[in-house]
Amino acid sequence: MYDENNIFAKILRNEIPCEKVYEDEVSLFFYDINPQASIHVLGIPKVKVTDIYDFIEKTNEKDALSFFKSINKVIDKLNVKNSGFRIISNTGENGGQEVPHFHVHILAGEKIGGLR
Ligand code: AMP
Repeated sequence: MYDENNIFAKILRNEIPCEKVYEDEVSLFFYDINPQASIHVLGIPKVKVTDIYDFIEKTNEKDALSFFKSINKVIDKLNVKNSGFRIISNTGENGGQEVPHFHVHILAGEKIGGLR
């Protein structure tokens, strides 16, 4: 069940601020408050889904494609296409997910060590 009070739901409702990188009607990308690399951006769809499995189950094709296209827009905006980056989506307890609204981490700007 989706928790309406998770921190990313609050960001989407403008109840708490974020440092925006990109936004459109489907998605929002913003800097992680506790960066694990010199560039650490989080990307979330605006649809209320808890994790990547839920996103794939419930999101229509148009919005799913739009979300993934937005990742490329952010990669271009951050100018990290050539230097490289890592995209992670932690899921559930064993995946180490803390915030129960589907998100991807985009880590870049330096060589990203070990699996996170
Ligand atoms: P995860 O462990 O995959 O659920 O990641 C949650 C991420 O959200 C962590 O990297 C946190 O640093 C980040 N985070 C938590 N609260 C905020 C916030 N208010 N603004 C930006 N990032 C946040």
